Amino acid sequence: MSAEQLTSFLVEIFERAGAASHTARILARTCALAEQDGAKSHGLYRVPAYIATLGTDWVDGAAAPEVVTSKGATVVIDARNGFAQCALQVARPLIEERARVYGVATLLVRRSHHFGALWLDVEPFARQGFVALTAVNSISHMAPHSGSTPLYGTNPLAFACPRSGHDPIVFDQASSLMAKGDLQLAALHGEQVPLGTGVDKHGKLTQDPHAILAGGALLPFGGHKGSSIAMMIEILAAGLTGGAFSWEIDRSEYPDAHTSRAGQFLLCIDPSHSAGPGFTGRIESLVQALHDSGQQRLPGDRRYAIRKQAATQGIAVSPQAMLDLIQAL
Ligand code: NDP
Repeated sequence: MSAEQLTSFLVEIFERAGAASHTARILARTCALAEQDGAKSHGLYRVPAYIATLGTDWVDGAAAPEVVTSKGATVVIDARNGFAQCALQVARPLIEERARVYGVATLLVRRSHHFGALWLDVEPFARQGFVALTAVNSISHMAPHSGSTPLYGTNPLAFACPRSGHDPIVFDQASSLMAKGDLQLAALHGEQVPLGTGVDKHGKLTQDPHAILAGGALLPFGGHKGSSIAMMIEILAAGLTGGAFSWEIDRSEYPDAHTSRAGQFLLCIDPSHSAGPGFTGRIESLVQALHDSGQQRLPGDRRYAIRKQAATQGIAVSPQAMLDLIQAL
């Protein structure tokens, strides 16, 4: 299937699951583009969990985001319990306009659900010449450094930078050693995970994904360093926005709900204000230095290669996978 065909199929799925058409279109694109770029844990695999969540009152699949503040370089949006990507769609033109005027613009989204891959939020800014950074906090699944019970979300951070004549540099990574979706996939396929991924319900290190999922906790990457990044993301995405901290999210009355109801932070910088027209040339010299030093693969390269292949050969979706999604409704 092409990305557009897969998106159209998913729009219908999400509409039937109860999402309003504008939300259905955004969720469908989010999942189709992740699938297209080979991000299996955030593509079609995610759809049944979206369907289950939309079937509850945990999220509002028809929410219209509200611009709370739009002064100077700061834009605050209340997603009104809808999906963060819908809030970002409303904010994007405002953010780009403010970043062009002030050199920098900050977006703070509260009461928002984010259940997708984060690079999708920043790559388009880089394609418009901006440097962008975003972070979301999410449901408490990860222990802090030296702790053993869940506190932080797996709190991802994504960064995008334009290049001259090349796809932007984009990295997008969870604060945990392994994203929860990848842990679930490992459990599904009966695979062990690397030591250090998580602990069981007794706080003991384990390589069994089922033991981590059954009352255990994921662990941050890089020990105290990843833990501090997760803490920073709580401050940026919840503390600054007025959204819930990860450990405050209480889904106990919504056992079928999977999404986060938290917050999102986004920073957009127009490099022409500080670095001037030579900026992308400087980035090329950085890339050259990386190559000279032995790093050939940049973050984002794997996805771009899979995307290129999908553009000519399509995205492989089995009829059974489509049937499974229809049956999940
Ligand atoms: P990965 O560890 O797979 O990848 C992290 C980043 O490192 C990517 O940008 C990747 O680029 C890059 N990378 C990987 N290997 C190399 C390498 N050898 N050299 C250079 N760069 C490399 O991501 P995670 O498992 O941490 O996260 C997976 C996804 O889960 C993310 O998209 C994240 O947004 C999402 N997530 C979403 C959450 C939410 O609440 N919405 C919560 C947590 C995670 P490339 O893409 O090219 O492989």
